[in-house]
Amino acid sequence: MMQQKILIYGDDRLRKLSENLINKDQSNPLIHQLFETLSIYGGIGLASPQIGVNENVFVIDTFNQIKNDPNEQSIKRAFINPQIVWYSKKQSVFNEGCLSIPYVYENVIRPESIKVQYLNESFEQVEETMNGITARVFQHEFDHLQGILFIDRLNMFQKIRIAPQLNKVKKNKSNYRVL
Ligand code: ZN
Repeated sequence: MMQQKILIYGDDRLRKLSENLINKDQSNPLIHQLFETLSIYGGIGLASPQIGVNENVFVIDTFNQIKNDPNEQSIKRAFINPQIVWYSKKQSVFNEGCLSIPYVYENVIRPESIKVQYLNESFEQVEETMNGITARVFQHEFDHLQGILFIDRLNMFQKIRIAPQLNKVKKNKSNYRVL
């Protein structure tokens, strides 16, 4: 059983800067672990720092999120050493949550489209443009690699509103378990 416990808000490891992964052999077990943990917790994206590994790797699986949306195509993929090389001026709003911050959901404004570069699971360099839910999740997970959480991107009023919930999450962080 490779499943890992997900680190909860308040854990310093979520705030560390991750490093590029150099060794291909290192990536396969990590990616496997991320997908496995993601499927157990039932999210749409998971970044290495969330399982206590500060490497520039994350996975996205949007199938459950958008299976009923004819306008979106789901992806299930791993992203190694990702970079965002272009952001659209046009922005969009999406109600985000995070497996590391249970029960907290807020609207986050982000660029609607991005151009990204990364290594795929075969360690091949890929460049592509992303839109919609894929671009959204990519930006959220990419932030994790810089130690940034979606709550950092909220306005002052949102931050004040969620402060009591965040304190509660922090206080109970050792008590969250897989359902
Ligand atoms: Zn997250």
